[in-house]
Amino acid sequence: MIVEGTVLRGREFEPVEGRVVVEDGEITAVEEASVDSDAIVCPAFVNAHTHLGDSIAKEAGEGLSLEALVAPPDGLKHRLLREADRDELVAAMARSLSYMEQSGTGAFVEFREGGVEGVHAISAALSGADLESVVLGRGTVEAMEVADGFGASGANDAEFGAVRRATRQAGKLFGIHAGEVDSSDINPALDLDPDFLVHMVHAEALHLERVADSRMPVVVCPRSNLVTGVGRPPVDALYERTTVALGTDNVFLNSPSMFREMEFTSKLYDRSATEVLRMATVNGAEIAGLDCGLIEPGRPAKLVVLDGDSDNLSGVHDPVRAVVRRAETADVERVVLPG
Ligand SMILES: [Zn+2]
Repeated sequence: MIVEGTVLRGREFEPVEGRVVVEDGEITAVEEASVDSDAIVCPAFVNAHTHLGDSIAKEAGEGLSLEALVAPPDGLKHRLLREADRDELVAAMARSLSYMEQSGTGAFVEFREGGVEGVHAISAALSGADLESVVLGRGTVEAMEVADGFGASGANDAEFGAVRRATRQAGKLFGIHAGEVDSSDINPALDLDPDFLVHMVHAEALHLERVADSRMPVVVCPRSNLVTGVGRPPVDALYERTTVALGTDNVFLNSPSMFREMEFTSKLYDRSATEVLRMATVNGAEIAGLDCGLIEPGRPAKLVVLDGDSDNLSGVHDPVRAVVRRAETADVERVVLPG
């Protein structure tokens, strides 16, 4: 397979006119050449933090506090999840997965509620999807065992020492929310030596220092934090200290579109468009132990091909800024994902 256009090549996303050569689902070459194509060829996005289960509750709970919305066990989201029957839940997640793929996402990291059953439900929703998933179970060691790891709610909610050890022993990923509502759960989360933290809105100087010392990766979800009213994560301070990736968080609060998350982040913070695109691709992949997120030989061919001559993008001067700050799902010509 050959994909032609302006290719955002390598870790710098250097725009080069030419073609990406794909064999058996792998990029084998990126060739500079004069081509007759207006396409912009970008690595498919990696959504580093989702809760797809709440696809059943889109735009529910206006005006509720974060705790009333999502705190286990009786936050609105958890009540709605308990009440939903399994078929409804699986169908709603499948619709979100389909939308994620259409909007250019090639892989995602899911914090899945509902224990072992919850992990099985998303496996059912994923059947037939080409998206690469990293599903982190919750609640029990068994949920971790049937999943790709464990996604902890937050260090103040329970004692996670035993499941942390079991996850390490299994050689799987352990991620944990920290610093979303306040700073009280950040040190206990760091003490667990997780593979990554999520949110860190309330990171203080000491926490930033610990993050820098341990090079602890952080997934930020700026739109989610705005919707729940907890504040803005210190994206610039975090980015200067460690690997930072973007996630769209709860589907019931925000659409799982990386275009929207990138635009928002790019316009709210000082990071360059290149840095924001890195946060939306290779950084999330690296945190999740995936190989994708860059266009270079040897990488899996996960690509989003945009129509650079759409009414929205026509005449654009800087293709990286176009992808990060302007593009939307309607500009996607196709998404290439190895099945
Ligand atoms: Zn979350």
